[in-house]
Amino acid sequence: MGRGLDALISHVASVSQPFSGAGVHGVSERVAGVDLDRPLEDLDAVLDELRDVYLDDAVWFHEPRYLAHLNCPVVIPALVAELFVSAVNSSLDTWDQSAGGTFVERRLVDWAAGRIGFDGNADGVFTSGGTQSNLQALLIARGQAYLSGDADPAEPLGQTLGRFRIFASCDSHFSVQKSANVLGLGLDAVVTIPTDERRRMDPWLLDQEIARVRAAGLIPMAVVATAGTTDFGSIDPLNRVADVCAEHGVWLHVDAAYGGGLLVSTRRRHLIDGIERADSVTIDFHKTFFQPVSSSAVIVRRGDDLRHVTYHADYLNPRSAALPNQVDKSLQTTRRFDALKLWLTLRTMGADAIGDYFDAVIDLAAVGHGLLRDDPDFEVVVAPALSTLVFRFRPEEVPEGVADEVNPRIRRTIAGRGDAVMAGTVVGGRAWLKFTLLNPETTVGDVRSVLDLIREIGRELLDELRTEVR
Ligand SMILES: *Cc1c(COP(=O)(O)O)cnc(C)c1O
Repeated sequence: MGRGLDALISHVASVSQPFSGAGVHGVSERVAGVDLDRPLEDLDAVLDELRDVYLDDAVWFHEPRYLAHLNCPVVIPALVAELFVSAVNSSLDTWDQSAGGTFVERRLVDWAAGRIGFDGNADGVFTSGGTQSNLQALLIARGQAYLSGDADPAEPLGQTLGRFRIFASCDSHFSVQKSANVLGLGLDAVVTIPTDERRRMDPWLLDQEIARVRAAGLIPMAVVATAGTTDFGSIDPLNRVADVCAEHGVWLHVDAAYGGGLLVSTRRRHLIDGIERADSVTIDFHKTFFQPVSSSAVIVRRGDDLRHVTYHADYLNPRSAALPNQVDKSLQTTRRFDALKLWLTLRTMGADAIGDYFDAVIDLAAVGHGLLRDDPDFEVVVAPALSTLVFRFRPEEVPEGVADEVNPRIRRTIAGRGDAVMAGTVVGGRAWLKFTLLNPETTVGDVRSVLDLIREIGRELLDELRTEVR
């Protein structure tokens, strides 16, 4: 263990940029070259090989110029916890495999529920990520909708499935679609609601769509409001969406996978006012609570609703046992004690410190937005509510089609050098670049220098294109 830790520390200390710039082919060849049927002779050889197949070309989220996806640098107390999580290896499915772990997890679920503004009836469970949290929330919503007045009690669930509809904004996460598919709702089950100029769900159109769906004999099953969309960080108007849901009697799920960190913000908690009116909430601690993957939770307003995922196995959690078995609340069986990471984080650093980190990257995004807006070489889609910037290099004279070609090439060129890593996305059918800022150590200087790099490479590419045309 000590030698492994030494190797890790010295390697991390030697890292000076977020990526090596390695190409797919080279990396895949190195991994393919390992003979898995012939173990190496000692730990030194193993660690050398590890460097070769993995560490040398890993992507480092703690590097200040890693600006791509919703990945965070991790806080050290959570890393200390990881040691214990893996070494003790508790499994959080049953009391007899976790004992105290069960109550640590339960305290954290209650704590998160309290931060949301739920009362003592709330409950929930840790999950592997936002995708699973959303799936579980929608599974519960499906169960509730089937019991509601909309469904015909004489009609078996299997026959009702095709009539359920989920409403989510056009910028919601694709796991909503995926969940609908897994839940057997069919491909048309997600009704997409347009967004306003700040990329937030339009509650008026939501109201119209729910009425239309019901009039057509279909069953409004759930509304998914996103508190922090993956691309823009936009927060749907939670109170107005909750009003619409209340009026129509529809389940409200708030996907706060990204915006969940606002629960501990000392300056911006109000941005998610209305979240306390949700029936269920997704929080990804492995995004804006700076936790290692995996760490997420689904929290429901009425703990009783978790019964939709409860099954009893004679060997594990028999109905008669009446022990505190978390498996009764989870889609998983064997399950990591991920909650311990958040526990040690809160016990070491406190919640405010985490909230301050998130506030710092939101502040940085606001400054970055100002830089982009005032720069004639760039266009930016929207002022960020959280910490993402969607923008493109497009000096005034350049046609859209050329910008579509140049921006992805800028991104690829920079990825091939490795001194910065950014993301790309498509908005209105056009290619854009994206920064997701989740590192409190990234400075305005870092953002500015990556923009300068983009400009420099963009200009070179434009010159190349012009020469080709001639
Ligand atoms: C990241 C994200 C998810 C998916 O979460 P995973 O932890 O990656 O499974 C869901 N919804 C939103 C809004 C997200 O940003």
